[in-house]
Amino acid sequence: MIARVVTELSLDRGFDYLVPAELEEKIRIGSAVTVPFGRTLREGVVLALPESSPYPLSKLKPIAGLCTSRADVPEKLIALGQWIAEYYCCSQEHAIRTLLPAAVRSGKIRPKTRKLYTIAKSAAEAEQLIVESAEKSSLRSRALILRELRSAGTMSIDSLKNIPNFSMSSLNTLLKNEIIAAEEEIVRADIFGDAVIMPSKPLPPTPDQQKALALFDEMRQGKTASKVMLLHGVTNSGKTEVYLQCIAKVLEEGKSAIVLVPEISLTPQTLRRFRSRFGDALSVLHSRLSERERYDEWNRINEGKVRIAIGARSALFAPFRNLGLIVVDEEHESTYKQSESPRYMARDVAVMRGKFEDACVILGSATPSAESMFNAKNGKFLLAKMNSQANDNAAPVMRLVDLRLENPEDGNPLFSKPLIEAVRDRIARGEQSILFLNLRGYARVMVCKECSYEAWCPECSVHYTYSKSRQTLSCHLCGNVIPAPESCPECSSPTVRFDGAGTEKIESIARAVFKGARIARMDSDLMRSANDYEAVLEKFRRGELDILIGTQMIAKGLHFPNVTLVGILMADLGLSSPDFRASERTFQLITQVAGRAGRGELRGEVYLQTRKPDNETIIHSMNLDFAAFSAYDLEFRELFRYPPFSRLIAVWFRGSDEEQLADYASNFTEQLRPYAHEKIKLAGPGPAPIARIKGKFRYLLTIRGEGLKVMRQALKVLAFHRKHPGDIEVAIDVDPQSLI
Ligand code: ADP
Ligand code: ZN
Ligand code: ZN
Repeated sequence: MIARVVTELSLDRGFDYLVPAELEEKIRIGSAVTVPFGRTLREGVVLALPESSPYPLSKLKPIAGLCTSRADVPEKLIALGQWIAEYYCCSQEHAIRTLLPAAVRSGKIRPKTRKLYTIAKSAAEAEQLIVESAEKSSLRSRALILRELRSAGTMSIDSLKNIPNFSMSSLNTLLKNEIIAAEEEIVRADIFGDAVIMPSKPLPPTPDQQKALALFDEMRQGKTASKVMLLHGVTNSGKTEVYLQCIAKVLEEGKSAIVLVPEISLTPQTLRRFRSRFGDALSVLHSRLSERERYDEWNRINEGKVRIAIGARSALFAPFRNLGLIVVDEEHESTYKQSESPRYMARDVAVMRGKFEDACVILGSATPSAESMFNAKNGKFLLAKMNSQANDNAAPVMRLVDLRLENPEDGNPLFSKPLIEAVRDRIARGEQSILFLNLRGYARVMVCKECSYEAWCPECSVHYTYSKSRQTLSCHLCGNVIPAPESCPECSSPTVRFDGAGTEKIESIARAVFKGARIARMDSDLMRSANDYEAVLEKFRRGELDILIGTQMIAKGLHFPNVTLVGILMADLGLSSPDFRASERTFQLITQVAGRAGRGELRGEVYLQTRKPDNETIIHSMNLDFAAFSAYDLEFRELFRYPPFSRLIAVWFRGSDEEQLADYASNFTEQLRPYAHEKIKLAGPGPAPIARIKGKFRYLLTIRGEGLKVMRQALKVLAFHRKHPGDIEVAIDVDPQSLI
């Protein structure tokens, strides 16, 4: 019998070992083992049990033994890991690492245990011993211990020590004479503390929910062509309630469920809803857990003590062995993409895990990604739509403000008169306002103040990226670079600009305009820790603030019934980002932030300020019309063959010597070229839009097309199995979420 084992340092290769006869019964795919490696022993995981090895059997060494300090990986997760390594072009070891939290992998954390004591004799014998001991004064302590133990059944050392006249030596003598026995019990951290949560019952479903639940039933019973359902429901349509009821069905079948939510939505509010329905048989995996908590949670799942895991990206790898359902909430979120190797997209891996384990997958969103809409259109996913609100809240009233008509001479073009009026109204009425500025990709596009000309790449239909230090305009998709013009190419005006205003400036303007108002700002520069974030939100919740100013951070999942106004200061800001997802992100953000208005009894109002009232994305956002936006966006992507109409891989090169880097990147690309066919387009390599980070230059090559499997294999060989010159690093990003 042969086992292929991957170890910490073997990178992308599995090494073959012989399985000694005495281990044959015990070794499975996923087993943790110790193997000889050179002169040392290393820990590893069994990836496969192949029939034969490319090496002669006489050259193979035997496995040294099972590794007791490392947990085994469920076999189906190993298969998932191998798929990740292949699809995302990462090493096997990186993929396997992703499956196991560091706390489990390291083997350094041992379970915390405590001893529990019981009487090891029959009731009659125990009675006799108690009577005998009680008669002798020297044995009084012994009699007391036995008496307490008899009535309690089992006791920990702490409770034993509370017995009057308890003596350790009596306890030890009792143990030595096998009158009592001690057993180890694993003590686990209690992540919930002892807060009491009122249980909740399933709500009678609305007609929309009923349809979604019926479709889920068909899917669960294997009556549908696909086991992935896209649940497209507007905010408040009751998606979460659908998740809860679907999970309940899966639990009834004796199976388990995973719920993925973006880290930022993993709030006490969300958790309370799950706990009130399912009690504490729920494992929560978020980034703030300590190593020990993470270790304990993983083991609780692995041992089948809990049946539901809820968490951010990494919860996807919860080691359930009988998975029935994976829910991915807010499936369109780009934070589901991991930014380091393996650069996987949790939503897509969820679909894959579902496939491997024959489990159902529900992808929920109010604004599904173009990828998922495309899959729903072509029948790969089932589609359930929920168009009406489950509670009495009405959609907010949307009001457009054309910033170009506002007089810039009044000094604060970011605060239009109607918006200022609306905020003042709210302050007077004791209601709250949110002012939102989307800063992403800001101040990098060349715009003419005179005629509103914007510099676009003629080939790719994306904005040129302006580089101040180089004085160039470049396209990150085709690598085209031109010198930055000093005057506008359209009207020759010298007033080209790339100015900007951040939330800080907004805050100072707001303080001047709304004198005496209680204002706080929330953005990632300011919010260093989760505590800062919670503290501001808590103040806002308690009504101690009138205005909250912020970026993306405040767009998501917050429920504040007293917020009746949302001001989107520059709705078109994100549209200038040099990314083919710019429209999609803008639409999603506007929809989300608009949803913050009017979550209570009071109807919400949204002021959308823009310089581009005629832009299609802005128009569809104003109408909160997802269907129209999606049709428009998919058409655009099809025209330019962007994903989902093609596959995209980004290859990033980094190095401190730019000349060497440019040479190497070109060389690398030339070696790839033979693997490209007519349906594959290589663009670049050229300087990345952000050309230098931390003193290192960045070059980008994009590969776009269909049938990229061979290309992936070639990339892997070039990126991992070759040594790169100097300090050059090569990173591969399959299905990138960002090309900046
Ligand atoms: P979503 O996840 O789509 O935003 P939720 O599941 O959070 O929607 O539901 C929005 C609100 O409507 C919640 O307050 C929820 O309790 C309520 N709700 C959901 N489903 C029902 C139902 N079937 N009957 C009554 N209220 C419901
Ligand atoms: Zn101009
Ligand atoms: Zn281009």
